[in-house]
Amino acid sequence: MTTQTQTMRTVAGIINSVQTLEGEGMLVRRPFPKSTFTEFDPFLLLDELGPVDVAPGQAKGAPDHPHRGFETVSYILEGSFEHKDSQGHAGKLSAGDVQWMTAGAGVVHSEMPEREFAQSGGRIHGLQLWVNLPSRDKMIKPRYQEIAAARIPTAQTDDGLVKVKVIAGEALGSRSAIQTQTPIMYLHFTLQPGAIAVQPVPKEYNAFIYVLNGEGLFGAEKELAGDGQMVLFAKDAEEVAIANSSNATPLDVLLIAGVPLNEPVVRYGPFVMNTEAEIIQAIADYRNGRMGSIDF
Ligand code: MN
Repeated sequence: MTTQTQTMRTVAGIINSVQTLEGEGMLVRRPFPKSTFTEFDPFLLLDELGPVDVAPGQAKGAPDHPHRGFETVSYILEGSFEHKDSQGHAGKLSAGDVQWMTAGAGVVHSEMPEREFAQSGGRIHGLQLWVNLPSRDKMIKPRYQEIAAARIPTAQTDDGLVKVKVIAGEALGSRSAIQTQTPIMYLHFTLQPGAIAVQPVPKEYNAFIYVLNGEGLFGAEKELAGDGQMVLFAKDAEEVAIANSSNATPLDVLLIAGVPLNEPVVRYGPFVMNTEAEIIQAIADYRNGRMGSIDF
């Protein structure tokens, strides 16, 4: 319908992922950051680990490392991971689970394949998103929100052709269980062949889609994008359109959006602050043990 077209955001760009190694040597696909595209305010990084079949004893992870000044959001699709941190938390994440970690002033954590899973091997697939914190929240007390798959709200259209998992924000009448520091939308849509989804996104939000599986047509001008590509939307309307152009394969995408912070970003590995001086302080605080250590 032409009246609908006018409300749809247009596509501002399509970003290809690059392959890179993380932690002990995990191969990840990373649409950003890269030299030509360093951030998408308020988002700092997206990594897709796998999907990959790992032989017994070969699964790799990210041993003890710090974070300060932002949030890490882990969403596991396949496999099993375990984590520990300097605040005394420990837990496991399996298929469908989400961990929303607000590093705030600083935390040291480990993100490893779960021991028994690593021994037997199997399929691994997971995502990690880094969400920047506004200046006022960069030094808040670290916080964890762990949401088991069963507690993540889901919804579907009446015809069942579009399903959504609501990790943050609201979609198809379901609202997320997670609280965010600034307004964030994180939705996992699954569209059956031929299906179309239209998601309201407030005009002030920066919005992108990351294609997990399949191929689709996106935005007002129906731009084609597939597996491993990121679709950036212009802030020119209040709805995002997703269409599964395949007649055989389901389309899985993440729709991620948030209000930009419009603050200076100074990043150095696991620390993301507003000034160079704050980065130097973060490095000193980590070296002096002020972010703690994992000793259990
Ligand atoms: Mn980490």
